[in-house]
Amino acid sequence: MKYPKLMLLLLLGAIVFMQSCNSDDTAESDDTDVIDDPSDAVSTPLSAFDEFNPDAVTISFDGTVITIESNGVPNHTSPYWEETNPLYIEPVVAVALTPGRIGGNRSYTVTVPAAPEIASSSTATGLGAIGIAVTGVPIFNDLEGDNRPIEEVIAETFDYAGAHNGPSGYHYHVESADVPENTVLSHDDEKLVGIMADGFLLYGRREGDGTYPTDLDASGGHFGTTPHSNGEVIYHYHIVNEFYLGSIIALFAGDLQGTPNVIM
Ligand SMILES: [Zn+2]
Ligand SMILES: [Zn+2]
Repeated sequence: MKYPKLMLLLLLGAIVFMQSCNSDDTAESDDTDVIDDPSDAVSTPLSAFDEFNPDAVTISFDGTVITIESNGVPNHTSPYWEETNPLYIEPVVAVALTPGRIGGNRSYTVTVPAAPEIASSSTATGLGAIGIAVTGVPIFNDLEGDNRPIEEVIAETFDYAGAHNGPSGYHYHVESADVPENTVLSHDDEKLVGIMADGFLLYGRREGDGTYPTDLDASGGHFGTTPHSNGEVIYHYHIVNEFYLGSIIALFAGDLQGTPNVIM
């Protein structure tokens, strides 16, 4: 099939126009902005959301955004359950318990981009939920309610899941313990831990091939493949393989590298 000359000229014109647009864009941004280019944004692999506890977490996909809604109620045992609950166990690692028990009418909802991007500057995390774990339990940072770092006396209140109870409910601060009772949570492995408020996934300390990543940024993040990304390179966080206090490993103690969305 032959194209009329005019069509060819228009087509060539369009290509030249598109190229000049692209070069204009490149001229405006410096090298450090390359990862801000929307064309570089990679969608979060949807198979990761199959890992979330369906009894607690509802995931809604809406084109460019994903909404994660949880009631914060975990699918594992803990001494923080009411003693009448089938999932109640005597403390395994906790020395003292904080007041309150799992339950109540909690709700944690966050809407994140389906293809989150690195922001031009990182953002410190605040108190309260900074992510939602696969169990449905909110992820907190390395500080307690009065802004003091996790210290021995606080660490003694963590159950084997690395959680305790607070005014805002049951929440994780640190990596779970390697005890027989732990049949669900990531401990020194490649399991998905949850999703952070900026939309990036948080994995355990290891890569899918069992090795520890060596190129993590200050937040425990890097670009690489994950057990869910089907060979595609995505930005994701890991639990940083460093003791935070004694033998305790914080789940997430750095800044968020993407744009944080409010967990309501
Ligand atoms: Zn706490
Ligand atoms: Zn990785």
